[in-house]
Amino acid sequence: MLTDAPPRKANRAGFLESERIKTLDLPQDGRLLAIAQSIESAMDGARTVDVRRACTEFLETTSQFYRVPDCDVRVLAARPLRVRESWSSELFGDYNPETMMIRVWMRTAVRKEVTSFGTFVSTLCHEFCHHLDFQKFGFPDSWHTRGFYERTAALYHHARGTPAKRLFWVAVPGGRWRIDWPRTNRG
Ligand SMILES: [Zn+2]
Repeated sequence: MLTDAPPRKANRAGFLESERIKTLDLPQDGRLLAIAQSIESAMDGARTVDVRRACTEFLETTSQFYRVPDCDVRVLAARPLRVRESWSSELFGDYNPETMMIRVWMRTAVRKEVTSFGTFVSTLCHEFCHHLDFQKFGFPDSWHTRGFYERTAALYHHARGTPAKRLFWVAVPGGRWRIDWPRTNRG
């Protein structure tokens, strides 16, 4: 994971705010864990309609908890060969802030590799955090800052029922940061 370079002047304040917010309130119950488990069962069945239903429930629950408008979700069997080069395309999903639409896919485009459940839920949480950046925090853009990745990780570990890890970062040229995985995994 690599952060975005800081933007020029105009959006600098929002970027720094995104960098600063490293925690996320989380529901104090097991709702998201239960829904994540239903996503896993649906993925085992490999029917996108079932996976979508479970993802919709997950996103409705999180949107309600954070008091933001619902976002829509599409689950695709495979990554589109051509993904619109918008700012938020990832390997396994994307988010369109104008339509508030998340797309996630269960297979990569070329090699048809199946997305693992962990990666799939991580992508869903990542894209939802883009939604939060606009709808909850009111940022003019949604950058991949260290804070963004910390918030995403908090939501992900909560949904998986796994202990949150402290993330360690290494500076790279251009004002960017990457996660130091060996150190992070050592804890
Ligand atoms: Zn992203």
